[in-house]
Amino acid sequence: MTINLDEIRVDLIGDDERGFEFLDPETLKPLTELELPTRGVLSAYLDISPEEVAGNKVRLKLRDMASQWLDSIEDRQERRTFEQELEKIEKYLIYEMSRPGRTLVIFSSEMANLWRTFHVPARIRTRLVWDDRPYMRPLLTVMDEYERYGVILATREEARFFLFYMGEIAEYSFALHDYVPGRHKQGGWAQARFQRHIDDHALHHFRNVADVAVRLAERDNWQRIVLMGTGENVARVREYLPKAWQDRVAGEVPASITDNINVIRDKVMTLEQEIERKIEAERVERVITAAEKGQNGVLGYADVLQAVQQQRVDILIVPEGLEHPGWECTQCGGLVADILAKPITECPYCGGHVKVVEDVVDLAMQKVLDTGGIVEILRGPIKDEFRQRGIIGALLRY
Ligand SMILES: [Zn+2]
Repeated sequence: MTINLDEIRVDLIGDDERGFEFLDPETLKPLTELELPTRGVLSAYLDISPEEVAGNKVRLKLRDMASQWLDSIEDRQERRTFEQELEKIEKYLIYEMSRPGRTLVIFSSEMANLWRTFHVPARIRTRLVWDDRPYMRPLLTVMDEYERYGVILATREEARFFLFYMGEIAEYSFALHDYVPGRHKQGGWAQARFQRHIDDHALHHFRNVADVAVRLAERDNWQRIVLMGTGENVARVREYLPKAWQDRVAGEVPASITDNINVIRDKVMTLEQEIERKIEAERVERVITAAEKGQNGVLGYADVLQAVQQQRVDILIVPEGLEHPGWECTQCGGLVADILAKPITECPYCGGHVKVVEDVVDLAMQKVLDTGGIVEILRGPIKDEFRQRGIIGALLRY
């Protein structure tokens, strides 16, 4: 059987009843490439957790951020353009707020004929940015922290494939149907031969399933694989995967071939969260142990920000929602957290001029990603414990 991979697409769910939009680098590419000759794109990151939505807090915050921008825009025409974009976002907030998610991300620009909204399951710091291009950085940072799961759901003669990412799932526009003759109840010699025939078909099918999966995995950068179905079938698919992909099987989950896509998504999400909690706990323990022994781990703003500056951070560990004001050097980019309540006037690294920044944590995360490091945002119960131990931490390269 020949399968043309070009014909297999990921069916983007778009607006399902939960309202998430599937995020992937391909979807975002036009946004990252967009650039206007002048400022005309309004980017909004809004906290839409229930506490914030209640009592209109989101809209009040948006208003507040907008008025700060308006104070800084001199040109009358530009102010009008800004206000038009703002109005669109406000309308959206009034009429479309009922959708779930932790953060609502909006990119709006009449000039660029752009209107995109993303309901992201992770928390991203609230902000409003007016520029000549969409402000993608926080979205890309959080995306980097999530892994792409390929999901294979197989029976003895059918298979469906899915891509799960950031709490959302999409199904591949392709399902495998391999003919396998039914089992007979007859006994004797004929039955034995027939049974072998059936098994050949089934094995051929499982080999096809594994083959398609590996090709999709390579094309679409799956990082982990979830095997779904009954125990026996799952074991067969696993058997036919190459060793490298066997090692990336995140788990086996019982499911029926007729399961609704939302059921599949919820099952994968439960598995993903278990895995994520485990990784969080393991990294937190590593950094605390390493810091205590004076090895390759540091805790607390001073040491962590210094390590960031020295480009030594392999994994930056940050409890979700952590923010802290401080300074950024305009010369070398060095970061200093405001922990002593004593303003600094020059950069401790190079003596350069420093400027006040609202949040050094956010800037530190970006620098770590820029230097090839990983950002681990703690979301599970270990988050609060870690805040007490060191607030912020880092595992170092050397
Ligand atoms: Zn400096």
